[in-house]
Amino acid sequence: MRKKIVAGNWKMNMNLQEGVALAKELNEALTADKPNCDVIICTPFIHLASVAQILDKDVIGLGAENCADKEKGAYTGEVSAEMVKSTGAQYVILGHSERRGYYGETSEILKEKTLLALKNGLKVIFCIGESLEEREANKQNEVVKAELEGSVFNLTAEEFKNIVIAYEPIWAIGTGKTATSEQAEEIHAYIRSIIAEKYGEDVANETSILYGGSCKASNAPELFAKEDIDGGLIGGASLKATDFKGIIDAWK
Ligand code: 13P
Repeated sequence: MRKKIVAGNWKMNMNLQEGVALAKELNEALTADKPNCDVIICTPFIHLASVAQILDKDVIGLGAENCADKEKGAYTGEVSAEMVKSTGAQYVILGHSERRGYYGETSEILKEKTLLALKNGLKVIFCIGESLEEREANKQNEVVKAELEGSVFNLTAEEFKNIVIAYEPIWAIGTGKTATSEQAEEIHAYIRSIIAEKYGEDVANETSILYGGSCKASNAPELFAKEDIDGGLIGGASLKATDFKGIIDAWK
């Protein structure tokens, strides 16, 4: 049975003290009331080492939001996959539309990042998703297929088992506009079908596919009830322990 996952993506929102306080609050809440799914929080680099000390690893996983496309060396300001791993983190988000859009991360760059993350023992939450224009032109399937083929379909089936897919339609991120559960299920099922074509039914059935984009406690139960939606990647609603826990509790 594939894993059910609720992952938070804090983005560039909290300073170190605020992040540490949130991690403590979440850790307390979830050790007292155990989740019925895997919970991961993905934080800015500066939080990782401190938050790793706080979290009970058996209850909450930790991830970064990015890593470098180079192994090591003179790359001022970059943070390598090995550095991320050394903080105690187990995951990294790659391919977020904000990285693709604002920082020019291409499929080729993301392919390198993915290989380095896996080589260093990190699991990858790999994001894909179409823009509003692409959705209106009914190109969403084409877009997600190309994003998978460009960066992660070069992996072996064994390597691919360390990939979690996050489908995040760009038009739903931070806009309050969620994909309907039917729209999300349709494309999640399509994504699973192309994973099956590439790696076979067994791998496809074991791959968790998360939905992201204005997911909150009020819409999570309906989204998570769908066959091919295995949880969520949460932005805004991961910044408050009560909001985030509300989404986690959708699996109860
Ligand atoms: P929101 O939940 O704020 O829409 O963000 C989703 C997201 O981008 C998670 O990676």
